[in-house]
Amino acid sequence: MDERVILHCDLNNFFASVASIGHPELREVPMAVCGSIEERHGIVLANNYPAKAAGIKTAMTVVEALRLCPRLICVKPDYRAYMEYSRKVQEIYACYTDQIEPFGIDECWLDVTGSERLFGDGQEIAHRLRGEVKRNFDLTISVGVSFCKVMAKLGSDMKKPDAVTAIEKADLPTKVWPLPVGDLFGIGRHTREKLCDLGIYTIGQLANTDPNVLKTKFGKIGLQMWQFANGKEVSPVRKWGECDPPKSVSRSTTCKEDLTNARQVRQVLVGLTEQVSADLRRHGFYAGKISLYFRDKNLAWCSRQSTLDLPTRLVKPMVDTAMALLEENWSGIPLRSVGMGASNLIPQTSPIQTGLFFDFADLERKERLEAKVDELRDKMGRDTITRASQLLDPLHVKLGSSFGHIQF
Ligand SMILES: [Mg+2]
Repeated sequence: MDERVILHCDLNNFFASVASIGHPELREVPMAVCGSIEERHGIVLANNYPAKAAGIKTAMTVVEALRLCPRLICVKPDYRAYMEYSRKVQEIYACYTDQIEPFGIDECWLDVTGSERLFGDGQEIAHRLRGEVKRNFDLTISVGVSFCKVMAKLGSDMKKPDAVTAIEKADLPTKVWPLPVGDLFGIGRHTREKLCDLGIYTIGQLANTDPNVLKTKFGKIGLQMWQFANGKEVSPVRKWGECDPPKSVSRSTTCKEDLTNARQVRQVLVGLTEQVSADLRRHGFYAGKISLYFRDKNLAWCSRQSTLDLPTRLVKPMVDTAMALLEENWSGIPLRSVGMGASNLIPQTSPIQTGLFFDFADLERKERLEAKVDELRDKMGRDTITRASQLLDPLHVKLGSSFGHIQF
């Protein structure tokens, strides 16, 4: 395979830079983006170069920062603006390639292998991007240009702001290997300390360690670290907009009144399961495993799981499974919060093993019905259609707002 050309683009001091758009005077004075300034217990989320020069660091408390630099200007975060500029910058990247993989709000990998004939080599493209982002939004990026994602990321960290750094394979021994091992992507403080215990302080020392030793010590991750250090990382840059399928979907709620009997719990579970079921349909999955969580009024927490014989996303079998878990595990102490989750997700496109006398027509009818209910609710609101069972008790009194959680 021909060598790939990967860029890693990192917006410099992103939050602080966005805060300065339209306020050039803020660039010249120490400025920090801080959480809850009024309560004075917020922390510094980001800061500009004058603030860094004054010794301000992220995660410092606002009080500490102001003591260190009394003339520090604190501004509130503006997450909508960050999302907006993040998207706008990605739109510029998208003029050069459709392989754009965001990493956080301010970083992206780009695979520009196929774009070189149109726009010049990797470094030329990097400089074009740098110029366009600066001209259009008054934001700066630092760009790493390399043959794999890990080395491109390392490159973007080497020189900033508003800079381009190329790392070629031949550069590894001179440019990369002398660096501290903690600079390598994926090596956090914890792993770094463990590596130091083994006498591994630089990326080069890691690259030259027997991979089997690392595998014994760290498992699969150890082998991966060794590959990273040697530039043997081959993971592709995703297509723009592509994301991982979810690993689990869950919903939970804290009730306004404690639940005292199984019928009440079932009602709450039906409400939550309807939402989990809709999430599964939206993402195209069946649940292979159901989890039930509850917390009683003494705040004791219980979490149980059960594997389904037949993967499903229909509300009734999911609720029945959760109720069976409840019966086995609930001592009857009134419950304050209840949650239900679906995991071991199976793509709806994969074949499912069923019994010989399985009624597919019935299953399909139920699936279609629940999908139709989703559609109605999406169009007209959640309360448009309600199960009769949900009307038995004045549930709206008991049910608090629910929280959804989709884990990727
Ligand atoms: Mg950044």
